[in-house]
Amino acid sequence: MGENLKIACGVFGAINFDGNPIFPYVYWGLRAQNHRGHQSHGFLTYNNGKFYLHRSLDLVPRIKASAIQEWFGRLPGHVGIGNVRYTTSGRSDEKSLLKDTQPVVASKDGIKVAVSFNGNIVNALQLEKEIRKESPEFSWECDANIICQKFLLELTKSKDLASAAKACMQEIDGAFSVAGITKDGQFFAFKDSHGIRPLCAGHSEKERIYAFSSETVGLDINGFCRDFEVGPGEFVVASEKGFERERLVKERKAFCAFEFAYFARPDSFFDGKYVYEIREEFGRNLVRENPDIVKDADIVISLPETADDAAFGVHEESGLRWERATRRHRYVTERAFILLNKERYTIIDKKINILASKVREKRVIVTDDSIVRGDTTKIAIEKMRKMGAKKVYMFVTFPRIIGPCFYGIDMATYSQLIGSRHTPEEIAKIIGADAVCYQSIEGFVKATGFRRDELCMGCLTGEYPTPLAQKIADTMRKRFLEGYEETGRLYEMAELLEELSGKTD
Ligand code: SF4
Repeated sequence: MGENLKIACGVFGAINFDGNPIFPYVYWGLRAQNHRGHQSHGFLTYNNGKFYLHRSLDLVPRIKASAIQEWFGRLPGHVGIGNVRYTTSGRSDEKSLLKDTQPVVASKDGIKVAVSFNGNIVNALQLEKEIRKESPEFSWECDANIICQKFLLELTKSKDLASAAKACMQEIDGAFSVAGITKDGQFFAFKDSHGIRPLCAGHSEKERIYAFSSETVGLDINGFCRDFEVGPGEFVVASEKGFERERLVKERKAFCAFEFAYFARPDSFFDGKYVYEIREEFGRNLVRENPDIVKDADIVISLPETADDAAFGVHEESGLRWERATRRHRYVTERAFILLNKERYTIIDKKINILASKVREKRVIVTDDSIVRGDTTKIAIEKMRKMGAKKVYMFVTFPRIIGPCFYGIDMATYSQLIGSRHTPEEIAKIIGADAVCYQSIEGFVKATGFRRDELCMGCLTGEYPTPLAQKIADTMRKRFLEGYEETGRLYEMAELLEELSGKTD
C-alpha cells in the first residue's frame, strides 16, 4: 500500500511579462501539488534585482482574505518559483526540515541563482567534495543545495545558463527536474538526461505568463494551457517570445513508472493520457490476467483511494460490483496524527473507515496501488477479516517492487521491501491474503502508452538508468541476500560510496 511512501518534491514557477505580481499563480500551482510533498513549502519571487523568500514547514497554508495584501508585500515581483517538499535525503527533525526547505539560493562572484527542484542525487557525496575544492565554505543538508551550488559554479565559469545546465546533466547521477531564476530575473528549467521526474510547461492566454509545473494540475488550477513536457536532457528558457527549448544531452528517456501507479494525481496528463485512464486500464489488465480469481469473487473494492480508478477498471472488465466500502476520514491528514508507539498499526484506523455490511460474507478483490513493506496491507486485511470478509484477494497495479529507488521516492533500502525477498505466494501468506496478484510488467507498460525503454523501472527489474545507482544496487542486493544489515538510505552510506568510487575511478 503506497500510503507509507512519500515523493521528494513538487515544483512550480512562472513569469509574467506583463509585469503583474506572480505570487498568486505560484501559490495555486503549489496548492494543486501538495500531494508531492507535505513536510515543508516555500516561495521565492524576484523583483528589481532582489530575491524575496518565504519558507515554512507543513502544507501550503490557506491565506485569509485579510492577509492577502501582506503576502503580496512579502513576495513582490513578476517572476517566482515555489516548492513543496518531503525529504528523501538529509535529516527529518524539524530544524533540519526547515533548513532544507526549498527554494534555495546560492551566490558567488556576483552571480546569484535560486532553484526549486524535484528528484534525488545519487552521487551527492562525491559532488560535495568537488564543490568544496572551489567553495571550501560550502555545507549542505539536502540535494537542492548541491544542485544549486553545482549549477552556480558552472555558471560562474561559462556565464551561460545552458552550459551550466549541461554540466549538471553530465556530472550529476540522479533525477532532477529544476526551475530556477537568476539575479537578472531570467527564468529557466531543465531536467536530468533521462527525464526521470515530471516537469511540464504551459502558458496563459490572458496575460503573457509562462509556467513550469511538476504536474499539469499546477497549470490547470491557474487556467493555463498545457504546452509540453520538458524532455530528458532539455533546457528551456521562458522569454517574451515564449519558450526557447534546447536538447543538450542525449540519453534514453527513463520516466518514473511509479508516477502512474501512485504519485501523480489522477487528473494529471502525461503524453496524451490522463493518469486516471491509465489506472483504469491497470484494473482491466488485472482482470484479464487473473480470470480464475475473478470467477471466485463477489465484489471489488479499493484501498486506498489512489486505487479507485483501477477498481473501476476491474468492475468494468469483470462485471463485479464495485463497492465503495472504504471511506477516508477526510480531514485527517498525516501531519495531524497524534499516535502512540505502534504508529504503523494505527494508521489504517486513523485514515480509513470500512463499511462492514458491504464486505461481510463476501469474497473480496481489493485493488491496491502497490505493496512496499506489506505491514499496512496486512492490517487492512486483518480488518477486512474482522468485518466478516470470507476471502481477500489483493489486485496490485504496480508490479512487485524488488529494489530501492534512488531517484526521489522514499524507499531507499532492500530491507524495507517485502518484495525484495519474498515471492507473491509468500507475501500472500505473510499479509494474510488468499492471493496477491501483481499486474505484469508487460501489462503495466502497455497501459501507460510509453515504450518499455522509455520508463525507469529500476525498483521492479533491478535495472537502473544511471551508472552509480546501478552499481550501488548490484553491490547491496548481493550483500543484502547474504545477510548484510543496511544502516540507512543506500545512497547516503558514505563508506559504501567511497568503496564504489574507488573501484571505478
Ligand atoms: S526506481 Fe522505481 S520509484 Fe524510483 S524512479 Fe525508477 S520506477 Fe520510479
